Amino acid sequence: KGKHVLLFFGGKSTEHLVSCRSALFIARTLSKMPLKLSLVGITVNGDFLPYPFDGEHLDSENWVKEAEEYGKSRNVPSAPISSPAAFLSSLTKDGSKPDILFPVLHGINCEDGAIQGLFKMADIPFVGSGILASACGMDKIAAKTILQHYKIPVVPWFRLSRRVWQMNNEDACIDILEKLPFPLFVKPANGGSSVGAGKANNLSSLNQAIAAAAELDSEILIERQLRVRELECGVLGNFPNYLASPVGEIIVKKPNSFYDYQTKYFSEQATETCIPATITTLMTRQIHELALEVCNILQISGLARVDFFFDRDARKIYFNEINTMPGFTEISLYPQVFAAGGFDATELCGRLLYLALAEHEERS
Ligand code: ATP
Ligand code: MG
Ligand code: MG
Ligand code: MG
Repeated sequence: KGKHVLLFFGGKSTEHLVSCRSALFIARTLSKMPLKLSLVGITVNGDFLPYPFDGEHLDSENWVKEAEEYGKSRNVPSAPISSPAAFLSSLTKDGSKPDILFPVLHGINCEDGAIQGLFKMADIPFVGSGILASACGMDKIAAKTILQHYKIPVVPWFRLSRRVWQMNNEDACIDILEKLPFPLFVKPANGGSSVGAGKANNLSSLNQAIAAAAELDSEILIERQLRVRELECGVLGNFPNYLASPVGEIIVKKPNSFYDYQTKYFSEQATETCIPATITTLMTRQIHELALEVCNILQISGLARVDFFFDRDARKIYFNEINTMPGFTEISLYPQVFAAGGFDATELCGRLLYLALAEHEERS
């Protein structure tokens, strides 16, 4: 009750805009709760700008201008800042130390342990996973390597380093195709919202897809392209006490397409979300068990959305990837599956704040 929450949005990440939309939804929810709320936007260049409003509108196009004007009018000291905690305190409305940090941020620098490192050094409770779980969750190659060790089924994959591909892309492609047959799927190891992800059905589209992923990351993940049903499960809790949401299914209605960036956020009619997914009780139980196992292995804190594929041909479930700060917009799956499970946005956010405090207590 009455806690001071400092919410972060934006970020130096390809998912900057998605974060603004997630933050709008969460800030609106937090505004209705009995707590003090300060917002900080992080620009695409990585600057931290206190934002004047409580997030009722959060205009993703104009927030930087609004924040700059606000900055000039503030008399909260911003420099010199001698410690991480002092820096974070200088970002709140009144310059006081926040009780809980809420990084509503997606992608590199945001969801990969980078900002969590700053929070840890400041020794202030924060929502979501710590450094290691965030980094392992963000890096699909690291996640698959670890989870495979624990016998979690993953889609057959190949790790390609950008440098290796740049040295000799012909040889690199031969190596890939020796291990995995076409059709393939290519994505940056550390990506999100499908940015830089794409199909490759022949050599020229493979090189194209690798080039696109290589613009965003130095490590590239190549997978077998499967004909999939996409089943996703929300998780809430701290190690080892997790709660799994009903399983949701994303149905992409465009033929020969996949759940790409455009489809995710800018064409609501192109997908259908089915909650709970129309799958057998047995499959639901399998997904719940796998989702909890993944969170236990990676020691997730607070929340995660674990994405699975059901391979229509082999009729088999695979772990696809985990998101430690899942999309949290009005149309995102994470808040919807929990709403279906009986937790509205207020209940969900309240629990996340509580879990942040509990995790901090546990770790110190
Ligand atoms: P998110 O926004 O969920 O964080 P992401 O960018 O981390 O996404 P993935 O979820 O791994 O990346 O892939 C994005 C989408 O690409 C999937 O939802 C699916 O539609 C498609 N996809 C990914 N891997 C494969 C595959 N091996 N075979 C077929 N389709 C795939
Ligand atoms: Mg992801
Ligand atoms: Mg993501
Ligand atoms: Mg995904």
